[in-house]
Amino acid sequence: MKHFPVFVAVEGRRIVVSGGGEAAVAKLRLLLKTEAHLSVFAAAPCPLIRQWADAGKLTLHPRALEPGDAMCAVLFYAANEDEAEDARVAALAHGDGARVNIVDNLADSQFITPAIVDRDPVTVAIGTEGAAPVLARAIKRDLEERLPATLGPLAWIGKAFRSVVEALPMGRARRDFWSEYYFKTGPQAIEEEGLDAVPSALEALLNTHLSASEKEGFVELVGAGPGDPDLLTLKARKALDVADVVIHDRLVTPEILELARREALVIDAGKEGFGKAMAQDDINALIVEHAHAGAHVVRLKAGDPTVFGRLDEEIEACDAANITWRIIPGITAASAAVAGIGQSLTKRQRNASVRLLTGHDMKGFADHDWRTLARSGEVAAIYMGKRSARFIQGRLMMHGAQPDTPVTFVENASRPDQRIVATTLSQMANDLSVAALTGPALTLYGLAPRAAMVALKDIQKKEFA
Ligand code: SAH
Repeated sequence: MKHFPVFVAVEGRRIVVSGGGEAAVAKLRLLLKTEAHLSVFAAAPCPLIRQWADAGKLTLHPRALEPGDAMCAVLFYAANEDEAEDARVAALAHGDGARVNIVDNLADSQFITPAIVDRDPVTVAIGTEGAAPVLARAIKRDLEERLPATLGPLAWIGKAFRSVVEALPMGRARRDFWSEYYFKTGPQAIEEEGLDAVPSALEALLNTHLSASEKEGFVELVGAGPGDPDLLTLKARKALDVADVVIHDRLVTPEILELARREALVIDAGKEGFGKAMAQDDINALIVEHAHAGAHVVRLKAGDPTVFGRLDEEIEACDAANITWRIIPGITAASAAVAGIGQSLTKRQRNASVRLLTGHDMKGFADHDWRTLARSGEVAAIYMGKRSARFIQGRLMMHGAQPDTPVTFVENASRPDQRIVATTLSQMANDLSVAALTGPALTLYGLAPRAAMVALKDIQKKEFA
């Protein structure tokens, strides 16, 4: 690209044209569309230019250009159809600080004027860097036919409505609305009843789209965080505020469910009948069923929905049913647990990476890269690791991990009943059974609580007691 397209601010500023013949007229026809002050210098201006001057559309100086005449001009056109005169006035305008265009002289011009399709405020500029004016004209013709002549006024009216249209959900819903307005409802209203009918047609269209978008359900896959309602994201809170249906996990705390809109239907997917968890397929079906019925469904998952949350199955179910969805991340249990023991998940010179592991998968106790984990300084956050504690301990010891590697269990992280059990690899299984944890617990492998944190915990316990 040898020429970069920009739109120059010309409102209330000077544009100067030197020349009074056909070339000047052609440029002036374009320039008259702008809100610039036009000055024309021509010793022998043609009648049309005189007419424009008489009508007050431009200022005519019936003489050749002199030094200082192009002062303060943003743009200058040399359109004398005379090479020597064009070169002379171009040099003068240049000296006056204006950007110069010499008509039909690409090489000596500082800017060129594109072919323009004018649907003010929509302006399409077509440039071929002088290479193919015929092509530019053909494209212009094509666009002139394709873009309704009413596009300009429609855009002005549309602009005034932009904020109102924000009531529609972002993305497809808004795009569909605008496209129907510009290419169907708007032009139709103008044709049938004139420009004045457009605002009310736009309002009616908006209402139709609003009720359609309300009827179309969608799903938000929301992270509820580790349990403390203050650790919900603002987005999660807003989603709960407006949800029609909340389908939640067993681990989501009552304090958080409390925040759901009062009219919302709250479904516990972690429990069915006598405490058995719902099968994943049934949960998928439930989400799809409610979204299809037009509900705003919040699928609320403990922690972060993207961490051991079976998120993908639910997303696939939504996709298969053509339901719009989005993810709202949350604070995962690992983040809450390390915060609870005053440690960080990574630390310079100790561990440059951290693993999030699950204690068991669909086949039973989950296997991992034990050899790597057994090296000193490794850190892992083990989810669902209570029942597999002895298995994990055995595997790590077998692969040469130090028996005194710190291990910390954090039960009910972030909640008032948070409990911390600090132990070592060699003692972890025993200490865990003695502690008899009943709530959700995260195993932090390779991390011990900071001493000051433990002390603080004791103080808090006394305060509660
Ligand atoms: N998506 C969740 C994890 C789901 S798997 C998240 O990002 O946190 C369930 C496991 O998460 C539990 O078995 C437990 O290991 C862990 N967990 C969830 N909430 C917890 C909490 N408040 N305290 C400790 N562990 C928790």
